[in-house]
Amino acid sequence: MSWLKSDASGDLLKWGMDTLTHLRKLGLFSARVPRYTSYPTAPVFSTATGASFQTKCMERLDPSEPVSVYVHIPFCERLCWFCACRTQGTTSLAPVERYVDASIAELDLWRDALPEDLRMGRLHWGGGTPTIMTPAMIHKLGAALRAALPAAAPFEFSVEIDPTAVDAAKIAALTAEGMTRASIGIQDFAPEVQGAIGREQSFEATQRCVDMLRDAGITSLNTDLVYGLPHQTEERLAETIEQVLALNADRIALFGYAHVPTMAKRQTLVDETALPDDEARFHLANFAALRLRKVGFEQIGIDHFARPDDSLSVAKRAKKLKRNFQGYTDDTCPTLLGLGASSISRFRQGYVQNASATAAYLKRIDAGQLAGHRGHFHTAEDRLRGRAIEMLMCEFHIDLDILEEEFGAMVSILGPIHDAVLRKFPGLVSLREPVLAIAPQGRPLVRMIAHCYDAYTPYGVNYSKAS
Ligand code: SF4
Repeated sequence: MSWLKSDASGDLLKWGMDTLTHLRKLGLFSARVPRYTSYPTAPVFSTATGASFQTKCMERLDPSEPVSVYVHIPFCERLCWFCACRTQGTTSLAPVERYVDASIAELDLWRDALPEDLRMGRLHWGGGTPTIMTPAMIHKLGAALRAALPAAAPFEFSVEIDPTAVDAAKIAALTAEGMTRASIGIQDFAPEVQGAIGREQSFEATQRCVDMLRDAGITSLNTDLVYGLPHQTEERLAETIEQVLALNADRIALFGYAHVPTMAKRQTLVDETALPDDEARFHLANFAALRLRKVGFEQIGIDHFARPDDSLSVAKRAKKLKRNFQGYTDDTCPTLLGLGASSISRFRQGYVQNASATAAYLKRIDAGQLAGHRGHFHTAEDRLRGRAIEMLMCEFHIDLDILEEEFGAMVSILGPIHDAVLRKFPGLVSLREPVLAIAPQGRPLVRMIAHCYDAYTPYGVNYSKAS
């Protein structure tokens, strides 16, 4: 690849090699740690914190602060082998219709607990495949959401779109309901890779979908790519990246494939012998990052890239970037309400996750109960550690002055952790008061460094590889 060899920021390759060497020395090459989209992470949640905690948190919301809402649609027309999302395959629309009705009933239960006049600043429909819904279902759900939580100004509504399960009528329905941003899953366009992950999606079908979105007036477009897939090579990934660039997306997420068949049974269909080894995987990630930076994307945290004028890049430069369950966000709403099976709500006081299995979720809603069944009450120390982890994941440093302003003398409990991090990652992390910073060549290790601040999670087989 000539552009790779001639790139002026070729230091990334050297940093990549330094980091690789360091990981090997530490015996952490294949370490598995969380992605830290929350702290603590969902496996830590307990059934001792459920619907009654959810009710109290909802009742105490300040109506002057808009909330974000996430809606989970756990159905797909196809089940891709690599995917670990909470979803189920269906060839019939009957269970989807039933689920949409249950989600609307859940909104009615919310209305009993939420303060009047609460507004919605952000809305995201994810899954699963939200575009499995018919236009009539989209309108029904959209109207119920608007009735429960009118839109604040400004309002952003993003939807995950499967190009193989959408048409102009569904896009028109979503646009009429206020969709402002579309997110398209791609992963890799190479037929060899798609065949090995049980997901066919041609570039032409994706292009048609993007054209329909543009025709409908959608200007904000996200795409998702995945590295570390079976039969993926630099050449194939390079070709996919060129095709994605032709789609002219504003944001590209580049996630590492997390092969955890013990957790995601579908992944047992993935041929493990065709997966790139740890070193190849590491190079794939660097290779893609370098190309995206070369064509003008800003790197956002560990796995997002955005055009310089995109709101995510603006938030990064303003040091206002946050982590949420979708990854990086510029969303400033302090509260996230999760609607639907397995959705997680984030309150100032802690997290609550709805019943995960669709059947269990429907049973609770039919019984007239809020669906929260497990969660976590935040202690002051959780909030402090979570804030430090979020700073690392978003900005690759911890500003101790900001932590002290927010948490006072309690910040001192992090002192021994800083010392341990400096010992464990020599030359890659520095502490020059008031900032503990990860050097550029240490950034691929950020999840492992963040893990040192996690009081709950051991290294585990159920998380993705950190490199
Ligand atoms: S990748 Fe998308 S379409 Fe495939 S199983 Fe996962 S959620 Fe469903």
